[in-house]
Formats: sequence, structure tokens, C-alpha cells
Amino acid sequence: MSFFTGIPVAPPIEVFHMNKLFMDETSPDKVNLTIGAYRTEEGKPWVLPVVREAERQIAADETLNHEYLPVLGLDAFCKAATGLLLGNDNKAIQEGRAIGVQCLSGTGSLRMGAEFLSRVMGLKTAYLSNPTWGNHKLVFKVAGFETIKEYTYWDPANRAVNIEQMIADLQQAPEKSVVVLHGCAHNPTGMDPTHDEWKRIAQVIKDRHLFTFFDIAYQGFASGDPDSDAWPIRYFLDQGLEMFVAQSFAKNFGLYNERVGNLTVVFNDKSAIAGFSSQMSLVVRANWSNPPAHGARVVAKVLGDPELRKSWHEAIKTMSDRIKQMRAALRSNLEALGTPGKWDHITKMIGLFSYTGLTRENLISWKIIRIQNFG
Ligand code: PLP
Repeated sequence: MSFFTGIPVAPPIEVFHMNKLFMDETSPDKVNLTIGAYRTEEGKPWVLPVVREAERQIAADETLNHEYLPVLGLDAFCKAATGLLLGNDNKAIQEGRAIGVQCLSGTGSLRMGAEFLSRVMGLKTAYLSNPTWGNHKLVFKVAGFETIKEYTYWDPANRAVNIEQMIADLQQAPEKSVVVLHGCAHNPTGMDPTHDEWKRIAQVIKDRHLFTFFDIAYQGFASGDPDSDAWPIRYFLDQGLEMFVAQSFAKNFGLYNERVGNLTVVFNDKSAIAGFSSQMSLVVRANWSNPPAHGARVVAKVLGDPELRKSWHEAIKTMSDRIKQMRAALRSNLEALGTPGKWDHITKMIGLFSYTGLTRENLISWKIIRIQNFG
């Protein structure tokens, strides 16, 4: 008998469970479609050469130490991350209305943002896309959101964003609901709204007095161009919308286990920053108190040095080009096999994920999967 006897066993975390099944599988033809992490042509993880170079420089710098960072993070990192997101010449940065809070990767940035909105602002309703990244619901729930609703996102028949229903759902949202939007490379569908569709989304958020919370985990990694991946965020800002943006440097720097993230916050009036920062310091203090330095130093160094930044651009181009090649190969093989239906959506999609439209029956008939049920 233990103090802990009787704890119910929670369902497995799907993506990690699937990864374990992959590891245990003995077929030599197995393909890992589980965790969203980049792989080289040889199926290996990739440490970006520019990250190695920045790490060498950091290791050689004897002025650095292991003192605590400020609660809200390494200033050079927060500024570099905010500049990457908004563009250094952005009006909000020039006018001192945008700030960054260093957090533990994208997840920590979402969590800090959600906790702030729930505990400090008293907001309790969040709208998530249906479908969405598997962790959004849990993060918002644990952060104190009491009502978590979904807005329609996917149109399975046309393998496209269901923009009409999405707008209709957001029109029904009560004022001050928090709307979580994927900045680029929507996870899991792979399909982003067009620029015109983003304009409609911004308009309904404005008309209904909703609050925008962007989650951007793939800036630069999606298209190879960090500016074009940030287009929706910059457009919303041009429309005068205030927002939280959770940024992750896991994918675009390959710094998955360093947990490097930033919560960018843009205010319409910079006088709100003092209150925000003081309250956010308490939210962070109650979680991890001060963030880790290593990954933040790497990102700050790379983004702050023109030569290193150029190498980073080359690396994100390499990764995004390879993903595009994989999409093109999947589409052309499906077409060559004479698979019934149209497959052009696969190359219209962007980023690591894809709602391929392949059915369980397709896959079983080609003997390319063994079906596993769990949970
Ligand atoms: N948001 C989305 C949409 C994601 O796909 C991910 C990672 O897969 C994250 C956030 C956060 O990832 P991390 O906490 O590793 O930065």
C-alpha cells in the first residue's frame, strides 16, 4: 500500500507512444511519421552547422558564467526573437510597444501566455482550431481556461481550410474569447489560410472583440523565408490588433531539447508594459523562476551576427527544400500508382505535417501499415 495507490493510469501521450511502437517495429521498411522533427536524407537528426559554430564561440567566451538570467529572460535573445517575428523595422518595435518574454520553447510560451490571460486578465474561454496540435487543449485547460471550444478549420471533402465555417464559428464567439491561431504550417493539416482568408479572420476577430494568440512553431522552417511565414502576424498588427505570440526555436534552429522559446506581446499603448511585465514576472516565478541560458545564447548570437544569420538562412532553406521535395515525391508516387482522387493538395500544403487524404483502407491494401490501436 502506497500513499499513491489507486492513481488511475492516464492514456498515453499519442505521439510518444507511436514513436515507441516505431522503435519496437522490426520491419526494415518502417518509416517514422510520428514526432515532428526534421530528419536528413539518411533519416538522422541534424545539428545545424551554424548552431555548432555559435556553440563553439559561446564555449570559448570566458566572460560568460552560469549566474541566473533575469526572470523574463536574456534581453538580447528576447529582442532578437521579437525582431525576427515582427521584422526589426516594425512600427510596434520602433515605438517600444512590443516585448518578448523568454520561455521554455513553444509549449512554455503558450503556457505562460495562457496563464497570464486566465489568472491576471480573468479570461476563461479559448477557441482552438479543429483539428489542432495535440497539446493545445491540455495547456489551456491546466492554465485555468474553463471553456475550451473549437472552431472549424478543415474541410475533408475538399482537403482545404473551411474558411466559411471557421468565420461563422468565430462570429459566434463571446467577446474577449481567446482565439489560438497557427501562424504558419498548421499542425496537423499542413494547410494554411490564404492571405485573403487571413484578412477575413483578422476582421472577425476585430469585429467580435476577440483576443489573438498566435502559435508559431515553424517560422522560416515552413517556407524557407522567415518574413513570409510571419505574414499573418504582421498583417494582424497592421490592423491594430494586440496579441500574444508563442514562438518556438525547436524546429527552425533544431534546438528541440534546449527548450528555447519566446512569448512576444504587442500592446497598442506602451504604458501597459510596466503592469504586464510585473505580473508576468510573478507568473514565471511560480513556474521556473528563471529560464535556461544556453539555447537562448545560441539564438541571440546567430540572429545578431550578419554572417551567422546568413548561414542560418541557408540551413532553413535546406530543411524546407527537403520537406518540399518529400511532398513532391509523395504526390508523384501516388499519381504514378493511379491512386483514385486528386493529390495536388499534398504540394499545396506546407511544413512537416499533412492530412494526406489517404484512407486506412488505401494503406492496408498496399500492405504498408500494420494497424495499432491504443488508448
Ligand atoms: N505548437 C505547435 C503547433 C507545434 O507543432 C509544436 C511542436 O510540435 C509546438 C507548439 C511546441 O513545441 P516545443 O514546445 O517543442 O517548442
